[in-house]
Amino acid sequence: MDEEVAKAMHCNESVIEYFETACWGCGLRLHLASYSPIFKCGWCGAITDRNQSVRKADSVCFSRWRGLRDRFFVALLFLFMIFVICAGVWAVYPVVFSVSYLYGMFHCTLTAILSICTILSFYLSAFRSAGTQTNVQWGSYPVVGKGSLENYTFCVYCGKPKSPRSHHCRSCKMCVLDMDHHCPFIGNCVGAANHRSFIAFLIAVVVSCTYVVSMSIYAGYHVWPPLEYEHLALARLSSLGAIGALKLVAAALANSALLLSARGLLLIYLAFASLSVEIVFRFLLGSANAMKLQQRLSSKLL
Ligand SMILES: [Zn+2]
Ligand SMILES: [Zn+2]
Ligand SMILES: [Zn+2]
Repeated sequence: MDEEVAKAMHCNESVIEYFETACWGCGLRLHLASYSPIFKCGWCGAITDRNQSVRKADSVCFSRWRGLRDRFFVALLFLFMIFVICAGVWAVYPVVFSVSYLYGMFHCTLTAILSICTILSFYLSAFRSAGTQTNVQWGSYPVVGKGSLENYTFCVYCGKPKSPRSHHCRSCKMCVLDMDHHCPFIGNCVGAANHRSFIAFLIAVVVSCTYVVSMSIYAGYHVWPPLEYEHLALARLSSLGAIGALKLVAAALANSALLLSARGLLLIYLAFASLSVEIVFRFLLGSANAMKLQQRLSSKLL
């Protein structure tokens, strides 16, 4: 009986076929019990994915297009910020100073603070590195210590180890630590190093736009020409009804808008443009916070 069991075990052992392969992290030769496209090295902890193949570098046209797109959005956003600050100063300052000197000074201070916060946070999030991963030794066994490449994968674009918290960005052409997304408005990735300044920039834009909208409406109200109603009589107004009265007011507004000064027209443009930008950035802020929350939840669950 024992002989039969020993024979059966021997047969089983002889059936097992070992696959020999090498770990990209430490270079050790590994023997796998069966063919597996993805496996983890028992020594350094690096993960090898044999489904990955060395990727060709992106075409010159693709890289140029992405670079141009990023530069265009960054320049557009920067010019818009400068325009809103200069136009706001030109259009709103005389109005608030004419109302009260103290109010004018308060407006000057608040404008300066909001402008500095917005431009500084924009600079920090756009022109600072989004977060580079630390350089690690890899490739040969004595140099690579036990567990030193734990859960590292191999980036086929960079041709280097990629830490579990990193993601490769084809626009920035590098692996970014804690990458959230590549934002064309700042022409940069949002990662570990600039996530705070990016959120600060979004908040600064939303607060500044809210202030610009409210000040444009306030100053526009002061510079708006007086409304003139044609053939207005109380008896007629009562016979017009609500819709007729509204039409009368709209016609008076349209007539007076034709008499608006350049300052008034600029204030209307500022109010609408800032409101549009505020809506877009509120949406971005909401999605950025949702992404961060999702990342935190998933890291806690893991
Ligand atoms: Zn290894
Ligand atoms: Zn990479
Ligand atoms: Zn990027």
